[in-house]
Amino acid sequence: MSSYFLGVDLGSTTAKAAIVDENAALAASSVVQMGAVSRQGMRRAIDAALRHAGLRPEEITRIVGTGYGRRLVPDVDRTFTEITCHARGVVEWQPDVGLIVDIGGQDSKAITIDDLGLVDEFAMNDRCASGTGRFFEVLARALECEVDEIGGLALRGTADLEVSSMCATFAETEIVSLVAEGADPADIAASVHRAVTARILGLVALVGKRTPVVLTGGVAKNPAAIEFLAQALDTPVIVPRDPQVTGAFGAALLARDATAPSTRGEPLPLISATSSGADCSVCAGPN
Ligand code: ADP
Repeated sequence: MSSYFLGVDLGSTTAKAAIVDENAALAASSVVQMGAVSRQGMRRAIDAALRHAGLRPEEITRIVGTGYGRRLVPDVDRTFTEITCHARGVVEWQPDVGLIVDIGGQDSKAITIDDLGLVDEFAMNDRCASGTGRFFEVLARALECEVDEIGGLALRGTADLEVSSMCATFAETEIVSLVAEGADPADIAASVHRAVTARILGLVALVGKRTPVVLTGGVAKNPAAIEFLAQALDTPVIVPRDPQVTGAFGAALLARDATAPSTRGEPLPLISATSSGADCSVCAGPN
């Protein structure tokens, strides 16, 4: 009989669940949108993953939680940071990865990976909305479109407009003004992507660029985010098939690693790291 392992990533805006079998193969995954971190959203994500895998809860051998709400995961056996889980997930998919850029709803991270597939250093921005999915959500709202439409729009932009505000609240005002002045929405979208990419480059500079580069998190589903980052880093950017579940997948693998030999030969460590220390006072506004 097969064994199954559950990883749950309770993020700031979404709950993700992934189930792997004893061979580290992904059996099922799910993403549930939440208003805020919620037990209900997490329950729905877990139930959906179990349903897709055709499993009952008692057939799960071990559970690992990650993300902001990792301690809320029911019956959790162990928790790990998102850094550890993203690294574990990406290394399974792309063993030679050098740099992981993870852009979620409210934070972004740059993580370097060493030759053994272990985390070397990371930098994180969780204080300022610029450089996160939230900035793109502000853009979508101001342009009155869906967040999954702005990438296609940005790829059609040509002019470089000034979107100087790094604060989401001020940037929204700036974008609305550009719309009112008759600027092309495609140019606005491209310019916002450029600004977010610049912020991500700042994070990458803190840990040092390495290749290959893998982009994870919900924002990795945005084709313009991929393209602009690839151009800015001057290297191809690899995106896993379902980038948003990378942390949950990594968590499920860590649950499996505890009972079986790691597919990487080495367990991943708990993290030690640097932080970018973003200072919101520089733009003196709410983010
Ligand atoms: P968190 O773990 O912080 O909750 P996620 O990694 O789940 O974040 O990413 C959520 C972000 O991904 C949101 O800002 C959302 O706008 C963005 N996102 C999700 N799906 C898409 C898509 N199809 N296109 C563009 N952005 C997306």
